[in-house]
Amino acid sequence: MRFRFVGTGDSAQTPCFGCDCQACGRARVISSCQRGPCSAEFWVNASRYLLDAGRMDLVESCERERPAAIFLTHYHADHVQGLLHLRWGLGASIPVFGPKDSHGCADLYRNPGLLDFRAGLKPFKPIHLDGMTVTPVPLLHSKPTLGYCLDDGGTKLAYLTDTLGLPCETESFLRDWEPDVVVLDATYPASHMEPKNHNNLPMAVQIIDRLGCPEAYLTHISHRLEADVLRDPSQLPANIRLAQDNLELQLGMHLAAS
Ligand SMILES: [Zn+2]
Ligand SMILES: [Zn+2]
Ligand SMILES: [Zn+2]
Repeated sequence: MRFRFVGTGDSAQTPCFGCDCQACGRARVISSCQRGPCSAEFWVNASRYLLDAGRMDLVESCERERPAAIFLTHYHADHVQGLLHLRWGLGASIPVFGPKDSHGCADLYRNPGLLDFRAGLKPFKPIHLDGMTVTPVPLLHSKPTLGYCLDDGGTKLAYLTDTLGLPCETESFLRDWEPDVVVLDATYPASHMEPKNHNNLPMAVQIIDRLGCPEAYLTHISHRLEADVLRDPSQLPANIRLAQDNLELQLGMHLAAS
């Protein structure tokens, strides 16, 4: 499986406007340390699929390689804002899958342009692409939200953002499914004791531990979490890494971020 993190930041992104913490300072100097809107992409038989569409250069990216479809986790702006421009493009329509959400975001449903919004996905009902099974799983967030479990017959990867904990049925599905790689929301540092809508680091570590997953990446990372991990890297167990924008994973083999 070829899977790439496109953006790994929270909605403030890194660097965060006006902040001079260590993570923000570093990201202003080293562009590869910046974190954009949380999103990813994967390829199946040379077809490209997007997981969320919040990046602001979505049009340029789709001009380079037109996606076969877009899977949305949910309709918060940081996950869909790129669609506001992309929709007015020309050519064949682009299927958009996502959770059942009667509101969507802004006027996307009323003025979809070339976006073909499909009916809300049923949790746990797999979609079969040519060479990949995608199973949507419910998450716990302030809007209807789905994670996506990707299985290409060789590798299983669970992409789980935005969420605070996991619903019982999702956790038991994942235990039976036994992912090789988990990508999980970890927005806040440990000092953020009562997080809303997103995990803090200890919660994310506990979930990964309960799932018994050998390899995990954290995403939707705030500058505060990153600054805290820079201060004390020992908070991260050996099998868990902070994801990075542009980091590409291939069949469990990690290619360097470009
Ligand atoms: Zn900062
Ligand atoms: Zn959200
Ligand atoms: Zn988000």
